[in-house]
Amino acid sequence: MSALSVEGLRVRFGSVEVLKSVDLAIESGEFIVLVGPSGCGKSTLLNVIAGLEQATEGRIEIGGREVTGVPPKDRDIAMVFQTYALYPAMTVRGNITFGMECRGVAKAEQQAAVARVAKLLQIEHLLDRRPAQLSGGQRQRVAMGRALVRDPVLFLFDEPLSNLDAKLRVEMRMEIKRLHQRIGTTMVYVTHDQVEAMTLATRIAVMNGGHIQQFADPQTIYDEPANLFVARFMGSPP
Ligand code: ADP
Ligand code: MG
Repeated sequence: MSALSVEGLRVRFGSVEVLKSVDLAIESGEFIVLVGPSGCGKSTLLNVIAGLEQATEGRIEIGGREVTGVPPKDRDIAMVFQTYALYPAMTVRGNITFGMECRGVAKAEQQAAVARVAKLLQIEHLLDRRPAQLSGGQRQRVAMGRALVRDPVLFLFDEPLSNLDAKLRVEMRMEIKRLHQRIGTTMVYVTHDQVEAMTLATRIAVMNGGHIQQFADPQTIYDEPANLFVARFMGSPP
């Protein structure tokens, strides 16, 4: 099944074209890493998929459904950002259930969902704490918990580990990989870190200047870079 299809996507901010005809077809269960230098358009692409920014041109389908004009909350996605944006006055439990509370989900169902997600992320012992009482890694887990309870077709991650120190970043990277292996939900993960891309991805989309330069599995990207940019950026021999 197709999890995400992007066709002929263009985004212009004023006179600047930030995305220049992007195409992507992603099958259900894949872990796609979108990698490229700062300013190349990664966040813009993710935000347009999420419905947070409008495309100038093009077409997007999520889980086989065309989503033009569909507001973010009605798209079958969940997004995790670099900054966690947890509600400081709420407990971890409250942060995770807030979306369900807003949608009027029954209390028993909320509790079951929290229990499932807390177990997956190993944060059962943190549920009654507030964000200020958590470490950076724990906060990022809670942010992931908030995304996970939505049980979406597609997870979008925008540099979720950039604020963590190097050691924790490697640990969390492996956790995200294990999480994907366990739940199998399709993931699109943005990073500017080549190692992160090579470790996590089933397929890598290398982006530069608003274009996807190459979309292939890590081995192919490394062995057969499509052009000089990909070769240099991904560190393969010229
Ligand atoms: P990345 O995430 O790869 O670092 P972005 O998608 O954030 O790149 O940005 C791509 C380009 O678009 C940058 O030059 C940025 O300054 C510009 N840009 C992003 N958002 C806006 C906006 N809302 N208005 C104008 N320019 C923007
Ligand atoms: Mg960005």
